[in-house]
Amino acid sequence: MKHMEQKELLKHLKHLNPPKHLEHRQENKLEPFFSRLFSEQGERICLICHGEREREPIEWKFWPGPKAPSLRRWLCTGCEQAIPWIRQIRCARCGRGAACPDCMRQPQRAFAWNRSAVHYDPLMREWLAQYKFRGRERLLPLFAEMMIPVTRTIADELITARGRSVVLTYIPLSRERQAERGFNQSELLAAYLGGALDLPVCSLLHRRHHTEKQSYKNRRSRLHALHGAFSFAQANELRVIQDHRPFVLIVDDVYTTGSTLDEASRVIRGNMACDAAGLTWARA
Ligand SMILES: [Zn+2]
Ligand SMILES: [Zn+2]
Repeated sequence: MKHMEQKELLKHLKHLNPPKHLEHRQENKLEPFFSRLFSEQGERICLICHGEREREPIEWKFWPGPKAPSLRRWLCTGCEQAIPWIRQIRCARCGRGAACPDCMRQPQRAFAWNRSAVHYDPLMREWLAQYKFRGRERLLPLFAEMMIPVTRTIADELITARGRSVVLTYIPLSRERQAERGFNQSELLAAYLGGALDLPVCSLLHRRHHTEKQSYKNRRSRLHALHGAFSFAQANELRVIQDHRPFVLIVDDVYTTGSTLDEASRVIRGNMACDAAGLTWARA
């Protein structure tokens, strides 16, 4: 994906509407954008290892309906099989596939839960680094596609079984970081998921100040640094959303300690009558 196209995606994102999805399916405004993007990816090369991938066995349709598409569209068999999916959750709070001392130590969180598609193992770390720091923007649709099964499961459960409405939002970057990187991966993931699953996407948060790179901080200074990091954005669509008593799913790339999600949820819940939960590509 080129920078121009990311900008175009963000433009579409701003125009996505509030939750009409409860009454009828919206026309998907992102479809032409992603169709064009994918038609440029027609060559049969794996996005990750650049090996040749097999021909797609079934006729591939852009919006695949209830079934998640095979990642063979992008990956060779080897790379697809190496994905460390979280198939079984051991911690109901943070969605980790392993025993979880984090959540035992800190039982009070502003978010209801978090769910992630994959374990953040060294391979996934490498894939994300290719995207974020080496400018391989074409990996974004792959990551988003990896999140579709878990997002669909959650949305079905909330909307169909529990009668809730679902709104997607995302962790914002500070203005400085956004300018430096040129895009916000969480915003793009949310836009893709909203478009693919017909869920409304709203910008609900601003990042108040530039916080230092989190990976260099220990747990305590990280929690402290995040306090007050987000302010609530008065989205135009807010009243419509509030009427539906929504469940707000906060999209981010990686869940590490949960402190970012916690702070974002605290601000959202403080300003809206809603529940908030995390939807992340990977669980560290
Ligand atoms: Zn490969
Ligand atoms: Zn946990």
